[in-house]
Amino acid sequence: MYIFAALKNKEMKLQQALEEQYEERGNEHIGSSSETPIREDAFVLSDDEKIERIQNSVREIMLTLGLDLTDDSLNGTPKRVAKMYVKEIFGGLHPERKPKSSTFKNKYKYGEMLVEKNIVLYSTCEHHLLPIVGRAHVAYISNGSVVGLSKMNRIVDYYAKRPQVQERLNIQIVKELQRVLGTEDVACVIDAKHLCVNSRGIRDIESSTVTAEYGGKFKDEAVRREFLDYINLETEF
Ligand SMILES: [Zn+2]
Repeated sequence: MYIFAALKNKEMKLQQALEEQYEERGNEHIGSSSETPIREDAFVLSDDEKIERIQNSVREIMLTLGLDLTDDSLNGTPKRVAKMYVKEIFGGLHPERKPKSSTFKNKYKYGEMLVEKNIVLYSTCEHHLLPIVGRAHVAYISNGSVVGLSKMNRIVDYYAKRPQVQERLNIQIVKELQRVLGTEDVACVIDAKHLCVNSRGIRDIESSTVTAEYGGKFKDEAVRREFLDYINLETEF
């Protein structure tokens, strides 16, 4: 009996330690890979089926919190949140929504740096499911292919509409542009506020997080400096 209790106690302590570790990992915003961790069966359910299920889960959360779902102001919330998750803020999980990758040849732009700065970015922290709000600055050096400027905005938006870690979002944007443009010479800097840091936890309302990913020629100090000068960021990376 004593041994059993001791074992149980040890098990509980282990469980507690694991939970603390997860909590800490979430608060430190440590990501695991540059690919969004997605299951193989992620798209077996249709959007409508997902909305139905999520709606039930949101209702369960609200009921558990003790909210009265017969109240006119609350009774539409589960459906509203479910639709918003599937179609909007997590809509970028679905490969069908990936922007079509059309480029066009423009030999006059060959070797020139193109910068699209201050792209508004709304994403969601995957550790707390709270908003990440900021700006992305994207640049590439053309090898003869160019993309429409709105394409860069759409690529940023597509990858932002997932549960994200800022570093991963940054890498995914660069990788996709490298693929579309057929060049390694792509860079992206993201400057964003994480509401999980600003509004809860340590409640640091001023801080923002800057991440950068440089490919190809952007690894060169002078090229990188030119890009950073365009976007007026003083930060050293
Ligand atoms: Zn977070």
